[in-house]
Amino acid sequence: MLDKKNFYINGEWVKPSSQNHIEVINPATEKPCTVISLGNKKDVDYAVLAAKQAFKTWAFASKEEKLDLLENLYTLYKKRWNEFADAITLEMGAPKEFASKLQVGAGAAHIKTFIRHLKEFKFDKPVSDQLQNQKIIYEPKGVCALITPWNWPMNQVCLKVIPALASGCTMILKPSEIAPLSSMILADIIHEVKFPKGVFNLVNGDGSITGEALTSHPDVDMISFTGSTRAGALISQNAAKDFKRISLELGGKGANIIFKDAKSDAIEKGASRCFKNSGQSCNAPTRMLVEKSIYSEAIERVKKYTSELKVGDPSKDGNHIGPVVSNQQFEKIQKLIQKGIEEGAKLVAGGIGKPEGFNKGYYVKPTAFADVNNNMEIARTEIFGPVLSIIPFETEEEAIEIANDTNYGLANYIQTQDKEKASRVARKLRSGMVDINGAGISADSPFGGYKHSGIGREAGKEGLIEFLEVKAVGGL
Ligand code: NAD
Repeated sequence: MLDKKNFYINGEWVKPSSQNHIEVINPATEKPCTVISLGNKKDVDYAVLAAKQAFKTWAFASKEEKLDLLENLYTLYKKRWNEFADAITLEMGAPKEFASKLQVGAGAAHIKTFIRHLKEFKFDKPVSDQLQNQKIIYEPKGVCALITPWNWPMNQVCLKVIPALASGCTMILKPSEIAPLSSMILADIIHEVKFPKGVFNLVNGDGSITGEALTSHPDVDMISFTGSTRAGALISQNAAKDFKRISLELGGKGANIIFKDAKSDAIEKGASRCFKNSGQSCNAPTRMLVEKSIYSEAIERVKKYTSELKVGDPSKDGNHIGPVVSNQQFEKIQKLIQKGIEEGAKLVAGGIGKPEGFNKGYYVKPTAFADVNNNMEIARTEIFGPVLSIIPFETEEEAIEIANDTNYGLANYIQTQDKEKASRVARKLRSGMVDINGAGISADSPFGGYKHSGIGREAGKEGLIEFLEVKAVGGL
């Protein structure tokens, strides 16, 4: 078992102030693979002090110095690619190939994109061509608490750490206690690259003690959080007390509107997108809205796709899906599948229990329900497992109404070959992102949500600006 009890504070790996350890569990075996420490208020105070001291100089580091360090970080990230992928497979159960291509790949794409934006970004510019002595200066927000979940570890960590470094902020990263291993590799790289001490700090820990100490700390200027809507609301309350800046990336319950003129593989692709990462993606299209005239055919096709989808050991090659992250998630998903059955949705594939041949590991049967009503719990709650709900609709207006009838507003999807219809519907969906015909949302596009899906945007230029304050200076 790996021993990863130390924290990275003020440029070195240090012992935690108290002996409070937990085991990181491999979801494929249910066995512990690593021991980490849970930080307390004293550890957090030490890390925040280091970040506060470092901010005095890092805030004024030149673009060249930051670019040089970030380019080196990117080189080392690519060098340790396989190590990242193995860590992600171990900590959260993403299958090998998926972990390497998509999980580690997403982190790399964000590092590359932020380096380009740092090169292009004008931190100092006139308000307009006519007012050359009226300047806007973008300045780093200060000491940032960066809190991340377990489902896309390097994607989420890079979306925060890289723009924070690029903007001149200093930071304390608290990765998920469930999946901290990949973040500790990133901390090693930051050390090797020789960022000034105190610029980046890592304290492992849970939400109720470590997370709480960070988000209520008076010297933390900004909180960038990705995780559940529940924790996002608690963090907002803490932040409000002293007007900390907040950026929240929370849950989702995406609709995938499939019109009768959709491309021929839209149904299978929609199901595949829902089950990707074992359904553990905030932007997963978990509600498949299907036009009435192709509804029966869609059910048959989803049934076939879902029944044939392979579940398997994440340490093995192949394009199967892995387990879900923890026993707690497994139990939550089982309860929601049961609830779907009780509420009268028609189970067309999967169901309660583990897939055949699996006794160990948090494996869930890929599950699909038809005849789901948007008021049912499976249509309203973010399940965060491989569970798809199929809902019929008659008209374009009805589809939009169902899609928007949710507290969330992260990502929605449209499948039609009618460009005008796609454009019309995209503009009426109340979500931060809309994907038409599987085009995807690029690493350069702003990622974030409306309503209970969060506040602010990550990725690309908007993701860099998120870490900057705006100062107006007249007469410069
Ligand atoms: P979680 O909210 O339980 O935990 C996320 C992180 O917050 C962890 O590091 C945890 O220790 C910490 N935390 C928990 N309670 C806290 C508190 N009171 N104060 C401070 N920190 C606290 O979420 P999770 O189960 O790890 O992740 C799954 C959730 O994340 C899902 O709801 C998913 O939709 C969401 N998510 C959102 C996005 C997005 O960009 N919108 C991306 C990925 C995941």
